[in-house]
Order: sequence, then C-alpha cells, then structure tokens
Amino acid sequence: MERVEIILGDITQIKVDAIVNAANPELMPGGGVSGAIHRAAGPSLAEACKKVAPCPPGEARITPGFNLPAKYVIHTVGPTWNGGQSGEARILEAAYRNSLLLARQNQIRTIAFPSISTGIYGYPLHEAAPIALRVFKEEAHNFEKIYMVAYDKLTYQAYTEAWKSLSEG
Ligand code: ADP
Repeated sequence: MERVEIILGDITQIKVDAIVNAANPELMPGGGVSGAIHRAAGPSLAEACKKVAPCPPGEARITPGFNLPAKYVIHTVGPTWNGGQSGEARILEAAYRNSLLLARQNQIRTIAFPSISTGIYGYPLHEAAPIALRVFKEEAHNFEKIYMVAYDKLTYQAYTEAWKSLSEG
C-alpha cells in the first residue's frame, strides 16, 4: 500500500491519529474546513486553541481532537495568495513541513490534510498541489499513512494529476 493517498471526502469524519486544520493565525473557528472541524470537535476545541494561539503563517500548533474521530488536530496557517511574489510558495511548504514535524514529535503515525490555502485564501490549486505532494513524498517514510483529503472533485483531480507527474518525473 502506498503511504501517501489522495481521497475524496470530509476530513472531520476520518479516523486517523491527527487531522490538519487550515486555520487562521488567531486559531478562531471561522469558515471553510476550520468551521467544519470546530463544529464536529465541539466548543472545547476553541478553548484549547486560545491557549496555543496565535499561529503565524507557516507554523503549526497541536490540540486534542475532542469529539472528532481523530485524537489530535494540528492547526497550521497557509499563506494568503497575493499574486505569488510574496513568499507564498515558501510559506505553503513550511505549513506542510511544520505540521508533519509536529506530528512526528507527538508519535503520530496516520495523518490527514485538507488542501491548505486553496479555499478562502485563494492559492491556485494547480500550483499548490505539487508543493504539498513533494513534502509528503519526502516525509512518507516517517508515517504509516498521509492522506490528502479533497472535499470536491476538482481538488481531487488536481492532486491526483500532480501525484502522477511527480511519480513519472
Ligand atoms: P484556506 O483559508 O486555507 O484556503 P479553506 O477552509 O477555505 O482554507 O479551504 C481549504 C480547502 O478545504 C478547500 O479545498 C475546501 O474546499 C476544503 N474543505 C472545506 N471543508 C472541508 C472538509 N470538511 N473536509 C475537507 N476539506 C474541506
């Protein structure tokens, strides 16, 4: 079995050691995947987030998962897209890398990511996908499973295509 897997689904339903939240620097519930994770985890998550906030772009924080099937939530903040010349790629890569580093430090073996920054933060999907997957490929040997959880078909296709290109190239 491949250690990296791209799936279509809802990250709040996945039973793994940790799910990753595409958070804002204040670690407030907000919209998008973050809102969904907070709703599913219950209000204790926001309380726990207050204690570890703020989280600058590219960094990561960990909390329990509370009512989620996942034991932990790793909160990371991706870059806001601003044309691509403002260090966005470097920050996006750091968000994935620092999430996986924090996971390793907490003995996490199975982890699921959403597509960081490609929603409200506006990062172009086809540019974001290879950045995420290159980090996964490098880090895969440290984990049992790394899932990329796409919430819609376009996201699923973008990551699947990027994964094929990486494997061929
Ligand atoms: P950002 O602000 O980092 O762009 P968003 O939450 O707006 O974060 O979007 C990130 C990605 O998460 C988008 O592809 C969005 O469709 C997806 N998403 C939203 N809800 C869920 C969910 N329940 N599970 C997985 N992905 C989700």
